[in-house]
Amino acid sequence: MKQEVLGDIKILCAINNAEFDYSKTLWRPEVPKEIAARINKYQRGKLPHVFHYAKDKKIKNVLPLGNHTLDRLIKVIPTTKIHFADLFGEFDWKMLMSNHNITLDSKKNKAIVEKYNQLNKQKKGIMKEEADENKGRKSAERYFFKYVKREMLKTHSNPKYIANVLVYYLYKVKNSESKDSLWNSFGKEIIDILKCNMEKTKVCEDCQKRRIERKQGKKFCDVCATKREKERLKKISFARKKNIKKAL
Ligand SMILES: [Zn+2]
Repeated sequence: MKQEVLGDIKILCAINNAEFDYSKTLWRPEVPKEIAARINKYQRGKLPHVFHYAKDKKIKNVLPLGNHTLDRLIKVIPTTKIHFADLFGEFDWKMLMSNHNITLDSKKNKAIVEKYNQLNKQKKGIMKEEADENKGRKSAERYFFKYVKREMLKTHSNPKYIANVLVYYLYKVKNSESKDSLWNSFGKEIIDILKCNMEKTKVCEDCQKRRIERKQGKKFCDVCATKREKERLKKISFARKKNIKKAL
């Protein structure tokens, strides 16, 4: 078996080489039917795990990590990039808010957003000033984020309220890529909100989505619970029909 697979790999390699040279040679080998069928077999099924990193294939579309050479290398090489989507499923920014009635309609909230944008426009200037005093980039940055927090608190006394407004603005309204200042200035508040929300939520055992759950002991979200109930009823009616047939 192993010999046959190795032989097929050699043939596949030769076919590929001929294909690469086709534009020059105008020659393509004719592959016997039974070999073509065998080779096609390898082309079905999922790609090796390494294609997740090499070609950005989704985790669900590649094989799980095995014990092949490349798979073992993946285990050795630390990943610096975190693929949140692969780890936790869909990200829901609403989990970062404690007040879901927030919009940007009120004057008060508009002022918070305006102040935030205005401060961010000053970032370069303030950073440069600080860094010039030989304080280094990191410390200049720290200074800037502290400054943002201090200034933002002049628009509203409650830092959690400001965090809510800015999360709504940056994640929902602006869908901004850069949320540096928000997280560095109000990260603690956001984490507190997130922790609190996590305590109120449960992960559905079917679809793995997190949802707010008021009732204790419910294992599934509403969508999955309805699906399960439908399937249960279907089974019952099927069994009944079978019994009726038997009785007849
Ligand atoms: Zn579910």
